[in-house]
Amino acid sequence: MRLVLVGPPGAGKGTQAQFIAEHVDVPKISTGDIFRANVSAGTPLGLQAKEYMDRGDLVPDEVTIDMVRNRLAEPDALQGFLLDGFPRTVPQAETLDDILRETADSKLDVVLELVVDSDEVVRRLSGRRTCRRCNHIWHVDFDPPAVEGVCDIDKGELYQRDDDKAETIKNRLEVYDDQTAPLIAYYAGRGVLVGIDATGPVDDVTTRAIDALRGFGADD
Ligand code: AMP
Repeated sequence: MRLVLVGPPGAGKGTQAQFIAEHVDVPKISTGDIFRANVSAGTPLGLQAKEYMDRGDLVPDEVTIDMVRNRLAEPDALQGFLLDGFPRTVPQAETLDDILRETADSKLDVVLELVVDSDEVVRRLSGRRTCRRCNHIWHVDFDPPAVEGVCDIDKGELYQRDDDKAETIKNRLEVYDDQTAPLIAYYAGRGVLVGIDATGPVDDVTTRAIDALRGFGADD
């Protein structure tokens, strides 16, 4: 299954991507995670991406698209994948269609939209904390770890992403409205879009997501 998750920052894409990818048994490919790993490791790609990420702007397409093209060519992604954070613009979506045609003579099966209103998004982003080791996402109010600042899973240190700070959140939401929201119409026009309510407990959202995917060929 070839699947894309879309939705505003804070819709829960990272959290749901993990569960859904396990359920449908495909690799999760998160462009934000790949960029953050490169920033931490100080690679040339990370150095190029960092200034855009810190402002909450999109990393330029020439950087992002090459990175995704290379990742999708790896053996584990040839039979299916779940993309989280890509595409984020209509030109990226058009390029993804081209990449799939070239590499595997295939196309996307489904684009799952996580629908959340903007007040909820701000509440979620400002309380979000991420594990430095395993990238698991916690929330100071909605899903706190047992010990503040420490990941329950692997005892990694939790941190607040620079781009989850108030001034950057505002810019990220504007970038989403201007550049990413047009993807919804793009994919609706191709008949692959399904939207679900992404509010409420994480497990409920996962259940809704998996139910929605059944209509597109995901197994029980
Ligand atoms: P995310 O973890 O998906 O919220 O991504 C964090 C940041 O990485 C974004 O605010 C962008 O700066 C950058 N980024 C992630 N995916 C993309 C993409 N598809 N195109 C451009 N920039 C991206």
